[in-house]
Amino acid sequence: MPIKPENRHRYPAHWPDVRAAILERAGHRCEQCGVPNRAYRLHGSDVWTRDRGVVDGWALDGERVTRVVLTIAHTDHMPENCHPTNLRALCQRCHLAYDAAHHAKTAYQTRRRGRALGDLFDAHL
Ligand SMILES: [Zn+2]
Repeated sequence: MPIKPENRHRYPAHWPDVRAAILERAGHRCEQCGVPNRAYRLHGSDVWTRDRGVVDGWALDGERVTRVVLTIAHTDHMPENCHPTNLRALCQRCHLAYDAAHHAKTAYQTRRRGRALGDLFDAHL
C-alpha cells in the first residue's frame, strides 16, 4: 500500500532502509503467496511471469495483467511498530486481503460503539 499522506508522520525517518531490509529478508517475494516482486500476474489468477508477454507459452495479448509491487504490511496495523517481526513483504492482493479482515473488524467495532452511544442517548429520552 502506498503510505497515506495523513499517516506519513507515523513512519520512522529510516523507513526506506527498513523496507529494503524486509524485502531482502523475503527474497523479494510475497511472504504470503510467493509471487516475485515486479512480476506480471494474470488478473484473477495465481499465474505469473517475469516476461510481460508470455505465461507458460500463452500470449497475454488482450488479457488483463497486473504488475506485482511488494508492499510492507504491519501485522498489528501500527505503522510505528517497525520491528522486523511485525513486518511482512506482501503483494497488493495479499496486503489488501490482510487489511480487509482488519477493516471488517474495526468497522464492526465502530458500528457497535455507535449503537452503544445511541443506546446511551436513547436511555435519556
Ligand atoms: Zn501475495
